[in-house]
Amino acid sequence: MMPIPGHGLAKGLAVTLRTMTRRSHTAQYPEVQPELPPRSRGVIGLFEENCTVCMLCARECPDWCIYIDSHKETVPASTPGGRERSRNVLDRFAIDFSLCMYCGICIEVCPFDALFWSPEFEYAETDIHELTHERDKLREWMWTVPAPPALDPAAEEPKELAAARKAADKAEAAAAAAAAPSPAPAAGTGTGTGTDATPPAGTTPAPGTTPAPPAGTERAPDPGPAPGPERPDDPAGGTA
Ligand code: SF4
Ligand code: SF4
Repeated sequence: MMPIPGHGLAKGLAVTLRTMTRRSHTAQYPEVQPELPPRSRGVIGLFEENCTVCMLCARECPDWCIYIDSHKETVPASTPGGRERSRNVLDRFAIDFSLCMYCGICIEVCPFDALFWSPEFEYAETDIHELTHERDKLREWMWTVPAPPALDPAAEEPKELAAARKAADKAEAAAAAAAAPSPAPAAGTGTGTGTDATPPAGTTPAPGTTPAPPAGTERAPDPGPAPGPERPDDPAGGTA
């Protein structure tokens, strides 16, 4: 098919006219902050209480832009005769954002949930050396990390929650059992639970219990062990 002369020009003019009549969309930054998606990769926040200085993030970072310093501390034994333990104490945690390529590997590999993405992006500097941010700044960014999305209501309960719920139920049941009053003795069933409980009149004491003497009477001397059954081979009929 032969091209119509001037077709390209008409098409270009149509695009120009359409764009001219469309309402412009200008972001009024910095007067108005942009609404970023919650999973934006702005900067990395550090929750240093969770960091055990395992060095995994620094080892896995493809740009080698995470700097960690630490020292060891001895923790005394918690029980007498126990062993002393040593633990790592974080001295420095810094990320050079002039080298970081925002791949997120450090966040993925951290086994203790100490690193998080924050949507914060206003950390431009005029000197490249000032793009290395230390732990205080990384901690400050931690408070800009959005809350995680709500759990799927149809999802299986996490095993940590299930275990915690089970332990709480068990403790509650034990506390309820301890707080419950002991059952009151029924009328005519005696006054105590020990082996010296007074049986009601007309009842036989349970085997192995010693009946209490009636008031005003002395307890009869203990007759000693009851004679055993006769041994068929014992001509005298005595006990062994
Ligand atoms: S996001 Fe990637 S490049 Fe940046 S510090 Fe983490 S691992 Fe390194
Ligand atoms: S991987 Fe996590 S716990 Fe280990 S040093 Fe890095 S931030 Fe700390």
